[in-house]
Amino acid sequence: MPYEHFSRAELECRCGRCEYKAEQMSSGLMAFLVWARKRLGFPFPLTSGIRCPAHNKAIGSKALIHTPYRNKDGSVTFHSVDIGLSRARQWALLELAVEESLIVGIGIKMHGADRSRLIHLDDHPMRRGKRAYWTYP
Ligand SMILES: [Zn+2]
Ligand SMILES: [Zn+2]
Repeated sequence: MPYEHFSRAELECRCGRCEYKAEQMSSGLMAFLVWARKRLGFPFPLTSGIRCPAHNKAIGSKALIHTPYRNKDGSVTFHSVDIGLSRARQWALLELAVEESLIVGIGIKMHGADRSRLIHLDDHPMRRGKRAYWTYP
């Protein structure tokens, strides 16, 4: 297992066919997640991490934020996770995420049953350090 508290299966693409690996997750994002997970002491079940372009399309996403990012050196990395959390737990994680300048994208699904709620976090280079916040319909 490349990261404490997070399984390969939940980080890697759910299509089951592509070659992308958990080791290609952004090291900065993963370091934050492992730290926050330890500090808060409750599970961070990932509902999405790496998505290949085909799987991203298959699940109806137009955003490319979970798909491969090609760095200047040619390496490919991934910079986004979705974490399924109840309302109270969302709040606790948001407090840490907002304080961490490395996190530049925060999306919140804040309606519906607790089991369908999620927080998207990313350190995506395309934002060039400018933070973005959004909710989901
Ligand atoms: Zn895939
Ligand atoms: Zn997401």
